[in-house]
Amino acid sequence: MSKISVAVDVIIFGGGIAGLWSLARLRQAGYQAVLLEANALGAGQTRYAQGIIHGGTKYALTGKLTASSEAVFNMPNRWKQCLAGNGDVDLRAAIVLSAHQYLWSTQNIASRVTGFFASQVMRSRTQSVDKKNRPALFQHPQFRGQVYKLDEPVLDTMSIVRALAEPMQSAIANYQAQSLVAKDDAIEVELLDGQRVIFKYQTLCLMAGQGNAELLAQLKLTRPEMQLRPLQMVMLRGGLPGMVYAHCMGASVNPRITISSHRDMNGDIVWYLGGQLAEEGVNRSADEQIQFAKKELAALIPWLDLSKSQWATLPINRAELKQGEGKRPDSFSLDDTNPGVLTAWPTKLALAPMLADALLARLEETGVRKSASCELPTFPKPVYATLPWQEASRWN
Ligand SMILES: Cc1cc2nc3c(=O)[nH]c(=O)nc-3n(C[C@H](O)[C@H](O)[C@H](O)COP(=O)(O)OP(=O)(O)OC[C@H]3O[C@@H](n4cnc5c(N)ncnc54)[C@H](O)[C@@H]3O)c2cc1C
Repeated sequence: MSKISVAVDVIIFGGGIAGLWSLARLRQAGYQAVLLEANALGAGQTRYAQGIIHGGTKYALTGKLTASSEAVFNMPNRWKQCLAGNGDVDLRAAIVLSAHQYLWSTQNIASRVTGFFASQVMRSRTQSVDKKNRPALFQHPQFRGQVYKLDEPVLDTMSIVRALAEPMQSAIANYQAQSLVAKDDAIEVELLDGQRVIFKYQTLCLMAGQGNAELLAQLKLTRPEMQLRPLQMVMLRGGLPGMVYAHCMGASVNPRITISSHRDMNGDIVWYLGGQLAEEGVNRSADEQIQFAKKELAALIPWLDLSKSQWATLPINRAELKQGEGKRPDSFSLDDTNPGVLTAWPTKLALAPMLADALLARLEETGVRKSASCELPTFPKPVYATLPWQEASRWN
């Protein structure tokens, strides 16, 4: 098959939230940008995310505004504008699972104290909820804690991926990752349909999550360094009382457990459990992690009968710019160590809009030109990932 040559302004690698959001912003701004995806759109961390558009409350549980909470403060409003069709990107087709994430404290004294501080510090963003307005789960007579409503929507992540990708289809190509050949100012790749394309570019933008490490190696670059912070998430279905979107506050900065709710391939409710449970669970076997999750839910929500539930675990890494002592970065990362190559990690789904702002500013500063036109070849239709709880094999 003959090779096609095409000149673009920016090539984005990776069709997760970071790459897709950035592609939409760059094309709106007039850049000839294309996105190359090695697997399926959303296939990385994005489809595993709980979909909470954090406004910083979770990070303010220590009682002071941390750098993390400052950075995410405006994100819920920005996303809500996009969901309403008035923001930087059009997310009207995305699915809002819940308008609010909730925060609950147990009777335990330490968690009540952090609950108190969270409500003081974050007064404009948290609202204590009286009994009759609580989600059904927390109206049970045995529930003794406090419930706060957070100004943080919860979204179906694959619906965001589709809402962003569908209007941009003609600029998105699935390719064979191993086929990449880096030349001076061009890269050559083989698309899924066997077409070989040589893309000339001004800037490469690596937004491939964990895949950034391999891309840097293919480009013979040694920096920036990436860190992986693993999680072992838990999911359960069957016998659940309804959809729940809530963090349970423990004594630490991280929620003891974070529950989001989704639907499996049969439309049945799935609870997806993260938080400290998932962070600390990486050293447990899958069985041990399930036993631990059962004990946690029995301790926190003792009136639930989960004897008929089916359980599974989902191990997954978070990929970020390397920090001292493997700490969580305070915000997104956009590294410009290598001339002509920007390497980015959003750190949070919620921070994708800020990362795209920074990327646009960086392209302007470095004088990346907006070409008047560029005729792209016809790319094969993009492939989309499946949500993990909708894959039958995960439940075996
Ligand atoms: C369990 C879990 C729960 C989370 N929950 C939340 C939450 O509730 N709220 C929140 O704000 N954040 C959350 N996060 C964080 C959030 O999911 C991530 O920060 C975000 O999805 C990262 O997006 P990304 O686009 O950088 O990477 P990814 O989503 O990992 O996407 C990378 C893409 O690049 C592709 N790729 C890989 N290698 C290559 C290559 N060589 N060439 C081209 N493409 C390649 C992959 O196939 C993938 O499509 C969560 C993360 C995890 C793991």
